[in-house]
Order: sequence, then structure tokens, then C-alpha cells
Amino acid sequence: MAGARPRRRGGRAALPVAEVVTAYRCPRCGRPLELAEWKHEVCLACWACLRAACFTTFRAWRYFVRGELRWRQLMEDLYRAYCLEGT
Ligand SMILES: [Zn+2]
Repeated sequence: MAGARPRRRGGRAALPVAEVVTAYRCPRCGRPLELAEWKHEVCLACWACLRAACFTTFRAWRYFVRGELRWRQLMEDLYRAYCLEGT
């Protein structure tokens, strides 16, 4: 993979998200999408196409139910946003 990764920021994460390769694939190039957390956003990104769909962490917090993050729901919504964006 080319060196197109964004710089990692320091400090505490607001969500337990680092950079996670997901089972979702980019509809354009077929590569696995990565989930990444930046300052105030959680993004599902393809580093090959340099595209991403982002939710603010404020919005992502709504996927916390009784202390558990509903990953599947969050991922599905992010992926839907990714597919809708610019295709
Ligand atoms: Zn792609």
C-alpha cells in the first residue's frame, strides 16, 4: 500500500477506534476499507481511492448503548454513506 496514510494524532481517543481493516470493500477498487478515528470524526476510508465517509464522534456516540458500541450498525451506516458519496 502506498504511503498515503494520514498522520496519527496523539492524545486519548474519544472512541475505541484506531485504524481497523474492515470486512467492507470499496465499491470502486475492491480493497478493504479501513475504519479510522480522527479528531472529531470517525471515518470509513479507502486509501487507494482517497475517499472516506465520516461521522462526527458526536454522531457516533449515539451508537453507544449501555456502554457498548453497536459496531455493525455504525459500520453499515458509514458504508451506506461511503457508497452514496460521489459514486
Ligand atoms: Zn477504493
